[in-house]
Amino acid sequence: MNAADLLKRAEKKLSGLHPVVAEKAQKLIKEAYLEEIYIIITQGLRTIEEQNRLYAQGRTKPGKIVTNARGGYSYHNFGLAFDFCVCDVVKGSLVPNWKVDRRWLRVGQIGKSLGLEWGGDWKSFKDYPHFQYTFGLSLAQLRSGRKPPIVSVTKR
Ligand SMILES: [Zn+2]
Repeated sequence: MNAADLLKRAEKKLSGLHPVVAEKAQKLIKEAYLEEIYIIITQGLRTIEEQNRLYAQGRTKPGKIVTNARGGYSYHNFGLAFDFCVCDVVKGSLVPNWKVDRRWLRVGQIGKSLGLEWGGDWKSFKDYPHFQYTFGLSLAQLRSGRKPPIVSVTKR
């Protein structure tokens, strides 16, 4: 397992994100890797239609409730949020470890050092896998069509 493998694996999920947010996710993967914490990206952009389908689950559709956000009420819907999972390496393969342990908390810290907002800090509903970067825009502003700035990404 090396950092390039982890980045490659994250590519597809990160492709729908705002470039600034995608870059922060890549840095997060690399910095966690240096501490032997292996993370995968489990969710990136979720379209408003996808969010509405998810919201219907457990309400008007079968299944259990998995979100309290309707379409347009999650930063995922605007490419400004992603979810991760810490993995164990078992016989060379990544196996997601969903139990929140000290590695998850460390990833939260690293993310915050990169300027991301971490769901693990939320008071009412702790969303440990979740990071977002809002550019100071509220969901209401984003729903009304405000766009985050286009920032060119410079490689360091
Ligand atoms: Zn999320």
